[in-house]
Amino acid sequence: MGNLVQQYIDIAKEKNPGEPEFLQTVEEVLTSIEPVLEAHPEYIEAGLVERLIEPERGVQFRVPWVDDNGKVHVNRGYRFEFSSALGPYKGGLRFAPNVYPGILKFLGFEQIFKNSLTGLPIGGGKGGADFDPNGKSDAEVMRFCQSFVTELFRHIGPNTDVPAGDLGVGGREIGYMFGQYKRLTNVYDGTWTGKGTENGGLAGRTEATGYGIVFFAREMLKHCGESLEGKTVVVSGFGNVSWGTIQKLNQLGAKVITISGPDGYILDEDGITGEKEDFLLELRASGKNICAPYADKFPGSKFVAGKKPWEVKADLYIPCATQNEVHMEDAKNIVASGAKFYCEGSNMPTTNEAIAYMQENGIIVGPAKAANAGGVACSCLEMAQNAEHLIWSKEDVYNQLEGIMVNIHKESAEASERYNLGYDLVKGANIAGFERVAKAMMLQGIV
Ligand code: GLU
Repeated sequence: MGNLVQQYIDIAKEKNPGEPEFLQTVEEVLTSIEPVLEAHPEYIEAGLVERLIEPERGVQFRVPWVDDNGKVHVNRGYRFEFSSALGPYKGGLRFAPNVYPGILKFLGFEQIFKNSLTGLPIGGGKGGADFDPNGKSDAEVMRFCQSFVTELFRHIGPNTDVPAGDLGVGGREIGYMFGQYKRLTNVYDGTWTGKGTENGGLAGRTEATGYGIVFFAREMLKHCGESLEGKTVVVSGFGNVSWGTIQKLNQLGAKVITISGPDGYILDEDGITGEKEDFLLELRASGKNICAPYADKFPGSKFVAGKKPWEVKADLYIPCATQNEVHMEDAKNIVASGAKFYCEGSNMPTTNEAIAYMQENGIIVGPAKAANAGGVACSCLEMAQNAEHLIWSKEDVYNQLEGIMVNIHKESAEASERYNLGYDLVKGANIAGFERVAKAMMLQGIV
């Protein structure tokens, strides 16, 4: 890595101590875009990178709420509005006990380039709270969401900042937050995405992220003269993203043999299809972040306690759980399996060293910011649908989603080739995402 990029990484380190997740993604993105910066000294003069690594705005707020026993709790809420170069800040809200600025800033920074890759007019942002919805009653979740929005509402709007879901925030939470937002503002608009279809939500939004991941993986395989038909796939997680991914993989003739939770993984050599695939919906709605008690719903399967599924042999690996779930020792297992393809489903599931190791050993890596962009792309379609006061059909949504994913793969591959990097989708996606943002920023002056 040259001095050019190192100076910005040093600035990021100095300004964001104790935020390793944010620094990890800054380093990963900046290292990739170094050739673009070398080719464009005007970007350096315009302080473009220094501006990009600093969120335009960040708010932190108190979220007091009362549990079912009358006890008062106080959580911390946040929204990081990272970049509005391409459009209103857009990105999800994460509710999880480990949420703190370092995680939300990593997600918000990634979101800038992911959203740019979709080719749609959306900037990047992310928010959330250190609240754990697991084990809470519906009424508790509702009261928490209402309190959260009672502060957040003044910072958001359909042309300002449009939140959606992320880990711990699904249709139920978005519904409660949309309801409270509407009550506070007296406006029924497209400020929230991931809403239920009855509330103006987009048909197909729930499965959009997973379907998009599989369309992206299909393009990777196609580029190498292969297809998903008959391929064995290891998937991690059992949330929304895994479910959509598994459903589309099944439709395209692949065989998914694992799902996982923080407690271990379920290995089902027969493939997670039919009733088992449907059962994932129930598991997803269980509100419990474990999968061991459900192993008997997968007849003939085995539950492997305390382990991650990367030790299982497959043709394609798709991590869909959370950040940094694939480390160096996992990468070694994946390489040893003889697999050729690895496609990230969740945001930053792989450490930088693990990605480098897999790539050095000939594995084609699909990066999350490209592969999982179908979710936010469909969020933007939801914004468009709401602005038009119309309802789009599922077929329309699926068709647009597929087109967007094919294009993201194409642009990432082309950017990589343009900079003589071969077929490197990790660098290509960063470059293609950055180029669009950089051009927009240059037109807007120093803001
Ligand atoms: N949380 C999702 C992501 O990481 C979706 C964001 C959105 O739809 O705004 O892209």
